[in-house]
Amino acid sequence: DRIREVHAAGGTTVSLEFFPAKTSKGVDNLLARIEGMTFRLRPTFVTLTWRSAFTDELLWLRIGAHVQREFGIDVLLHLTCHLPVEDLKRVLRRCREAGIRNILALRGDPPIGQDKWTPCEGGLRNAVELVRLIREEHGDYFCVAVAAYPEAHTECWNNPDLPPSEKARDLDLRRLKDKVDAGSDFIITQFFYDVDRYLEFDRRCKAAGITAEMLPGYMPIQNYRGFAKFTKWCKTAVPPELMEAVREVRDNDEAVKDLGVDDAVAACRRILAAGGRCLHFYTMNLSASISAVLDQLDLVPKAHEREAPWAASGPARSKD
Ligand code: FAD
Repeated sequence: DRIREVHAAGGTTVSLEFFPAKTSKGVDNLLARIEGMTFRLRPTFVTLTWRSAFTDELLWLRIGAHVQREFGIDVLLHLTCHLPVEDLKRVLRRCREAGIRNILALRGDPPIGQDKWTPCEGGLRNAVELVRLIREEHGDYFCVAVAAYPEAHTECWNNPDLPPSEKARDLDLRRLKDKVDAGSDFIITQFFYDVDRYLEFDRRCKAAGITAEMLPGYMPIQNYRGFAKFTKWCKTAVPPELMEAVREVRDNDEAVKDLGVDDAVAACRRILAAGGRCLHFYTMNLSASISAVLDQLDLVPKAHEREAPWAASGPARSKD
């Protein structure tokens, strides 16, 4: 199904991000992991990231098509502008042939070692252009999502002409609106740990007329090294009390994981209490923390409510 139709039906949704494996054996392991998680947790949909280094989309597509066909879960495939337009058109055609109905349209990061994004030869400049390409080539066939940044995209921060001020945030918001106006159906945010900032961002989007469904992206803290690396790379604000708590237990992996689950549950509860209804999780292909978070939020369907994995998917829960 197109995910926008699931959103339109109402109710709480849960989605899980995975990144693809690099080899055939890795794909088999990943599929086993996804099968275990989707059977128990019955997410509304899963997403699969795109790697800028991809020259061939076959493994990525194989995972996506398998999850959809065999596990009965809708799949949203991420796609970036790293390829020339003609290759993007081929990838989109193959997605369609494989029965994929949902695409997350992204620009992508500059290649490693480069500060600035420059389009490849015959390529696109930004995600707005990719949304337009999808609509031009495929009309309404795909449901199209785009990315948003509750703390503004780092390139807006880094722009020397635009200090991290209201101005930079306003510009970022205008560009998000451009992406939505170009024909995207919903929004997934970058991960964050400061829920106040997310809620403020959500309010500013609504005030700016961005009414597409917003899925807050949350990455449970699973270990100290990963947390330190990703928050530094994405310049993510971490509330001082959370940072202090994580640092205190940094050498104890189990304690870090437990703290990560507690923080995720508290964050999700606040978002749901503020009227949010769609939760998106960056899983890092790991199941324990996500399972614990969804259990504590009471968002895991009971065994007797679970559909057989081969049955057609649908929203597995309704909490409103
Ligand atoms: P855009 O929306 O195109 O914006 C990029 C920058 O260009 C912004 O600073 C924006 O303000 C600026 N800009 C936009 N329009 C214009 C314009 N008209 N003129 C000038 N500047 C403009 N990366 C991957 O490689 N693979 C993935 O699978 C992946 N998945 C992601 C999933 C999510 C939910 C998120 C939040 C990010 C993901 N990323 C992924 C990272 C993403 O590709 C980077 O953050 C990238 O730098 C920006 O992508 P975008 O689609 O947000 O770009």
